[in-house]
Amino acid sequence: MKQIIGGNWKMNGSRLASLEFLREMKRLGSEYASSDIVLFPPFTLLPLMTDAAADAGIETGGQDVFWLEKGAFTGEISPAMLVDAGASWFIAGHSERRHVIGETDEIVRRKLETGLETGLRGILCVGELIEEREAGKTEEVVRRQVQSALEGLDCVSPENFVIAYEPVWAIGTGLTATPDEADRMHSLIREWVAAIKSNDFADNTRIQYGGSVKPDNAAEILSRPSINGALVGGASLKPESFMDIIKAVPLQE
Ligand code: PEP
Repeated sequence: MKQIIGGNWKMNGSRLASLEFLREMKRLGSEYASSDIVLFPPFTLLPLMTDAAADAGIETGGQDVFWLEKGAFTGEISPAMLVDAGASWFIAGHSERRHVIGETDEIVRRKLETGLETGLRGILCVGELIEEREAGKTEEVVRRQVQSALEGLDCVSPENFVIAYEPVWAIGTGLTATPDEADRMHSLIREWVAAIKSNDFADNTRIQYGGSVKPDNAAEILSRPSINGALVGGASLKPESFMDIIKAVPLQE
């Protein structure tokens, strides 16, 4: 299965720096031909970046999306607007949207559904808070997030959909789940997806790991068969570190 490496720039980046970043990515290599690479810059940079990104073999996506096509929703961006800006992907349910902005499972589900129905491909982020982990609720929380996003969702397929398991306590903190812990959660997520959809669907769905993935831990994480890529925040802001993570993907036979 082809791995997928996402770079989530969050609220970082500028017009000048983003083009420089893409030039540097192109210069640094063609070694990433075996993975899908997607950058999620702020919305404002999407139209500017998409062509230069394609030239470097990289797709682009929105960090978020609204669940309706148009109307009186000040500040929101619809899926069709993302397409118009050149994006082919979106993220639904990033932990900063869930826990800083307050998005519920229901909102995440509506975003996922509308984005996929518009023809975009989506990354669904799931993951537990530190309090939930300490209370022994990791499985309960992540299972609920997966179920509420996927149950009864007909427009989803392994081709247009990726799950990112991102323990919230590992995001931006320098802490990571051990490869064994991540491996275990990825296997459980795949079981839950199989129960909701089918074994075939689950076997073909890519599940990324996210949470302080860096050049020095990427190879160990990405070599696990249950882990099909990474969603990278901080280390995606510099072309050298992002490229080092991309190069850590094991070569496909
Ligand atoms: C993220 O934003 O999804 C993320 C995993 O961030 P970081 O790599 O900085 O922990």
